[in-house]
Order: sequence, then C-alpha cells, then structure tokens
Amino acid sequence: MNAADQQQRILDAVDRRFDAQLKTTMEFSSIPSTRGAEGPCQDMIGDLLRERGYEIDDWHIDTAYLKDLRGFGPIEHDFSRARTVVGTYRPQRESGRSLILQGHCDVVPTGPLDMWDTPPFTPTIKDGWMYGRGAGDMKSGTIAALYALDALRAAGLKPTARIHFQSVIEEESTGAGALSTIQRGYRADCCLIPEPTNHRLVRSQVGVIWFRIKVRGRPVHVFEAGEGANAIKAAYHLIQEIEQLEKEWNRRAASDRHFKAVDHPINFNPGIIKGGDWASSVPAWCDVDCRIAILPEWDIKQHQTEILNCVTTASRKHPFLANNPPQVEWSGFLSEGYELTGADEPERVLRSSHKTAFGSDMKELVFTALTDTRFYGLNAGIPSLCFGANAQALHGFNERVEIESLRKTTKAIALFVAEWCGVESV
Ligand SMILES: [Zn+2]
Repeated sequence: MNAADQQQRILDAVDRRFDAQLKTTMEFSSIPSTRGAEGPCQDMIGDLLRERGYEIDDWHIDTAYLKDLRGFGPIEHDFSRARTVVGTYRPQRESGRSLILQGHCDVVPTGPLDMWDTPPFTPTIKDGWMYGRGAGDMKSGTIAALYALDALRAAGLKPTARIHFQSVIEEESTGAGALSTIQRGYRADCCLIPEPTNHRLVRSQVGVIWFRIKVRGRPVHVFEAGEGANAIKAAYHLIQEIEQLEKEWNRRAASDRHFKAVDHPINFNPGIIKGGDWASSVPAWCDVDCRIAILPEWDIKQHQTEILNCVTTASRKHPFLANNPPQVEWSGFLSEGYELTGADEPERVLRSSHKTAFGSDMKELVFTALTDTRFYGLNAGIPSLCFGANAQALHGFNERVEIESLRKTTKAIALFVAEWCGVESV
C-alpha cells in the first residue's frame, strides 16, 4: 500500500464511523460532569477503552502526591472520588514515536437553564452544529481522538508506538487531573490535546491565577464608618483597584513576542460574588472569587505578591478596609503560561495532516485561555500540541461544535497518529 492509498483508507474509515462517533459524543456530552461529578464520564471512557482492548489504569488522585509539583493549585472541594483514567496501547514491537492523547471531561456550570435554547445536557444536532454543555469544550475532542484511533484499526492498520489515551478532570479549575498523569509517570515523545481551537495550533497560551478576596467587618463599625462601611461596596472598591493592576499587566504584555499582537490579553474577571445576609442590614461580609491571567515566563509567586500588594494598598486608602483589612486566599489555578517551542517535528507532522484533512495550511493561535498542555511541556519536557475543532460559546449559553469541522479534525488526528507513531498492517 503506498502512502496516498493509506491516507485515503484512513480518511474513508473516519467517514464510515462518523455517525457512531457523533452518537458516542452525544452520549458522553449528556453526562453533567461539572466539578466533583466527573465519575460517570470516567466510567464511560473506561468502558470505551476496555471494550477496544486498551490496558486500563483507573486511579484515585491523592493530592498528597501532587501538592509539591510544579503548577499545583489548591483544591477546596471534596476530592475523595477524583479519578484519572488512562488507556494504553502497546505495539508488539515498538519502532515509532510514542504519543499521549488527552482530554478533560469536566465541564463548567450551565448558568440559568432558561437562557439555553435546548437543555445543556440533552445534546442536540441542528443546522450542522451539536449543542450542549461540553459538546465543544471538549467532549467532542476526546471522542474524536478515540475514533481517530478506531479509524486506523478500521483501515487495517496498527500503530507501531505506545499510545496513552488519558481522560482527566479539573482542567477548568486547577489542572490536577493532568498533573496526576505526570505524577503517575506517564511520558511520551509528544502530546496532543484536541481542545476546540478552530483548527489552529496553539502557539502560546496564558497562565491563570485564581484568588478570593474576603472582606469582613462588624456592623457596629459599619455604622460608625459611614458610607465606606459596607462590605459589598468595599469589595467593589477592591475590584476597581485590581482593574488598575490588570491595565498595568496588559502594558507589560505589549512586549511579549506573541501576545503583543493580541488586544488586551490579560483579563481580570471577578467571577463569583457573595455577601450580606439581609436587604436592610449593612453587609458585614463579602467574598469575591477572581481570575486573572499571566503570560508565559511570568513568575507565579511574583504575580501573587503583586496581587497582595495591590489589595493592601487599596485597603489603606479606604475608610472601612483600612480598619478591617481583607484577606486573600488562593482558590484554584496557580498556572504558568506555556509557549510551544522545540516541537518542529510534531508540528511538521500536524501541518501535513491538517493539509490533507482540510486542504489548507494550518494557522496558529495565541490563546488568552489556558489548556493542560502546560503540564506536559513544562513539567515533563514533552512537546505538547493543542489543536481541535471549531466550537462556539464555550462556557456560555448554547455551547456548540461544528459537525463538519469535527469530522475533518478527526481525520487530521488520525493522520497525525499514523505518521507520528508509524503504522503497519494488522
Ligand atoms: Zn477545555
């Protein structure tokens, strides 16, 4: 079989199984796997891998083994049932280059259900798109990787290198799932994570810091202090001061070799606010959960210190906060940014696979969100590619993935695995 025939057989095999792939994607996306509730997704992935003959490693994550590793972020919720599932394929004789394929199965909360056109956990196909929470980010990507491997088999081929198929959790809050695969000892010559990137290769991505500002006071002081004595209003003061820090960090970002091309790459988001107990009582407490980005090579500790200094300085000039200094807690991500470098060969293979699948050259993406690639790249020196389908409204209402884009992405992944790992006839 010559190379062109082999490619055509792989492409045809993806097409033949694509309806089944969509069905599996919908089943996977119907599981409401928000943080702490990923178990049924991990069960399903375990079953899918087992029935395909992969060697299964399914373990409970013990944070005691993770907490001193690079990139660990504090976990505040019940983690006793947290698991990672890895399916490993081993060739009889290893001659190619090994690969990690990874996807996260956690999804973010839906928000108000009445804002969705169709229920978020009832995946629906309409006008060429599949709608549902997680359909885009990134359950369709994980299942695409699985069916890409299936396509090789259906084309009468088997990879000649080791492949670890990893299903992880916590991508949306700390990355502890990906970190657990590093801790467990999984390594390969390359990693590919099919997050929805609209067919672009992520060249550089931000890091993220999560923190919580806790404003506390006693109502007795509140009355004495007058207008500045309301914990909720005081929290607004802090939010506005952190927006100044955000501006300063965006000024710095203008000298980054990739992010200088992006307008406003550093985004500060007060994402959750809670406070007060009664409409007619001056609130004595307010908690604000925040997210802010940093760029690759920016030191985490230094930027944590800048956040603390910003809050301290802002508090000193505020009548209530000056007497009731707020606390700052680290509440999740303490993640560095990651720039893809030293990956010429995997990039070449992905470019060529993309060209065959899409008929066009692959573009690059400078990404103002993070992905798990950082752990493989920074902690283990594994060149880590992030590339996937076209999805919209990630973390929003009516999240969706484009069906034809998903088909071509699956083809690109299958061709990539075939060339990267090498294949031989079954
Ligand atoms: Zn994602």
